[in-house]
Amino acid sequence: MERTTSAPPGTRHRTAPPAARHRCPAAAAADPTPCDGPPDTATLVDRHGRETAGCVHHCARLLPGLDGARVHPFVPAAQALEIYLRAGELPPFAWEIGR
Ligand SMILES: [Zn+2]
Repeated sequence: MERTTSAPPGTRHRTAPPAARHRCPAAAAADPTPCDGPPDTATLVDRHGRETAGCVHHCARLLPGLDGARVHPFVPAAQALEIYLRAGELPPFAWEIGR
């Protein structure tokens, strides 16, 4: 029988449930949807200049709820258009009404 002494059993990986650990930074905590594509596909910039990287799916979901936000100009046009198209179909904080 082998045991590690670095951490007591059962104390590792308790900070977040498995589904939440692998989502991009743009995924809202209350938004249950999984990522669509790489977690650093695009970046949003809010009106204060704060940047949030994320997948196309979560950037599109986050954008309507960020007042004055836009897709970063360095994001390739195809991804930026996809985000704006998807965001145009969504209300702010879409997950609050089950979308
Ligand atoms: Zn995502």
